[in-house]
Amino acid sequence: MAELTPQQALRYARQINLPSMDLEGQERLLNGHVVIVGLGGLGCAAAQYLCAAGVGYLTLIDDDVVDVSNLQRQILHYPESVGIPKVASAKLRLKQQNPDIKLLAVDQKLDKSLLKALLKYHPIVLDCTDNLETRALINALCFEFKTPLVSGAAIRMEGQLMVFTYAEDEPCYHCVSRLFGEQNLSCVEAGVLSPLVGVIGNLQAIEAIKILAKIGTPMTSTLLHYDASVAEFRKIALTKHPECLVCSAID
Ligand SMILES: [Zn+2]
Repeated sequence: MAELTPQQALRYARQINLPSMDLEGQERLLNGHVVIVGLGGLGCAAAQYLCAAGVGYLTLIDDDVVDVSNLQRQILHYPESVGIPKVASAKLRLKQQNPDIKLLAVDQKLDKSLLKALLKYHPIVLDCTDNLETRALINALCFEFKTPLVSGAAIRMEGQLMVFTYAEDEPCYHCVSRLFGEQNLSCVEAGVLSPLVGVIGNLQAIEAIKILAKIGTPMTSTLLHYDASVAEFRKIALTKHPECLVCSAID
């Protein structure tokens, strides 16, 4: 396991000062690998803080290019990046922010074989996507590999956060996704408030750091719902579905 250089110890001093973090926690971050699926609003916010916080290896996946309508909320993308791949645009900014971090930009749509290959050496996945099909694929493979998944979503003026570590009695994304029905609205149709994606993306970064550094308690079996219109956070307890097609053993 790589150790912090004296320069890195200075850079991360305020975080190392946290009693639960200490040098050991920061070194776990330095050696930590995170996959970020989707470099839209959530992914940009999460990536920026994971990079600043000193997570050593970030793998960025997205097959989209930057559009002018993304700039309102996808804060790693600048006007000069319009038309270039989102992962390339994000990598450029992240590299400037923290040159120590190893960044892998994957300019392709996530599929089963790509994610399987990545899960072999990434102990955590951030789902920052905006479609149910990709979310289902990520959940199924993370369950198979028992890789913790931090899932975020934001639309209009509402956001939500869930964490899955796939312990035996814990629900998975599929257990609870039926609660959301078949709705698969995108920001294109419904709209989204700019800083909302920052709030949820940053919550995802915090949960990922907690898991990697082994500090605090991951927010499992819980949906954290944020309604920006009335400034309200609510926690909803989630339970495992006994007949879940993903996580319940069927004899
Ligand atoms: Zn399940």
